[in-house]
Amino acid sequence: MLDAPEVEELTPPVRTLMGPGPSDVHPRVLRAMGTPLVGHLDPTFIDLMDEVQELLRYAFQTENQWTIPISGTGSAAMEAAFANLVEPGDTVLVPTNGYFGYRMASMAERAGGSVVTVDAPWGKPLDPADVQDAFDTHQPDVFGFVHAETSTGVRQPNVSDLTAIAHAHDAFVIADTVTSLGGVELRVDAWDIDVAYSGGQKCLSCPPGASPLTLSDRAMDRVLSRENPVRSWYLDLSQLEGYWGDDRSYHHTAPITNVYALREALRLVAEEGIEARWNRHRRVAQSLVDGLADIGLERYADEEYWLPSLNTVSVPDHVDDGQIIDRLLNEYDLEIAGGLGDLAGDVFRIGCMGHSARPANVQYLLAALDDTLEIETPKTQ
Ligand SMILES: *Cc1c(COP(=O)(O)O)cnc(C)c1O
Repeated sequence: MLDAPEVEELTPPVRTLMGPGPSDVHPRVLRAMGTPLVGHLDPTFIDLMDEVQELLRYAFQTENQWTIPISGTGSAAMEAAFANLVEPGDTVLVPTNGYFGYRMASMAERAGGSVVTVDAPWGKPLDPADVQDAFDTHQPDVFGFVHAETSTGVRQPNVSDLTAIAHAHDAFVIADTVTSLGGVELRVDAWDIDVAYSGGQKCLSCPPGASPLTLSDRAMDRVLSRENPVRSWYLDLSQLEGYWGDDRSYHHTAPITNVYALREALRLVAEEGIEARWNRHRRVAQSLVDGLADIGLERYADEEYWLPSLNTVSVPDHVDDGQIIDRLLNEYDLEIAGGLGDLAGDVFRIGCMGHSARPANVQYLLAALDDTLEIETPKTQ
């Protein structure tokens, strides 16, 4: 017999979450998670699934029938996109201007694709001319790009230009909208995006666990006419169709509590209005950027492709970013993050997402950061 471990009751610290996700969860979403479970085939849950789909279409600005939450975090929705769209032998074009393009490459390879890249430095968006060149050279079947690159704080502008190039070459476009959905202007239909995926814990301010995915009919036709079955049983959309489509038959048990949470988070989006929500993110993030400039921290990404939901600021030369981040967490219960990959040590990453995108959070962050930087670099008299 093993002895029963003695573990304390759960009392997590109350943090202010201003990092790259998760963001602060709205109290209404937390309450929704405390409501009783019903079965995943309960008639009331079936109705609720329809509501979630309708709300998701609004957030994505799409009429796509195939708009569902995938069980799992953003990476699960990402893998569902690549695993279903990519067949063995396909050529898949991915970007190299941030961390998540590499994750795309890895998922596309596992799906049997051969990966080619369109390059831009970390901290810059893709240039449509380079995308055009990559298409002319490689004739890819699938093109993935990151709309909101959380590792660099760069928003990809010119999305319609990129999708036009891809469609002129009969390719499918997969957009990573994990850090843009519900926070930054995103128009899936108007921009002609074939497949977009997202996550809960960024601009939707929902706990991770049920992740938005939308596919056009054309993309879904491709999935349903694959020559080879999708290698993942769990993420196979031709199987999930049975549950989220008209049949409503069992595939796997939906993460019911997460679907409740997502529903409430999306209700908040609808109540606020999607455009008002994009504007709020811009406004609050602009006050963050201005306040950071006042304490000597410069925005890293150019204004032109600045991503309000994830602000990168340069770490001043004499400052140890790790120490600042630790002190903010330990002394202020405030989470921000450092740089990843090519930008490790060079930037702070400050999220301004969903329920975290509030003036009170920005003021708190600026005050805490100002104090912390002063301790870090005492001013000489
Ligand atoms: C967070 C994130 C992901 C992955 O989401 P997880 O929920 O961590 O699995 C993918 N792409 C981007 C751009 C992200 O910011």
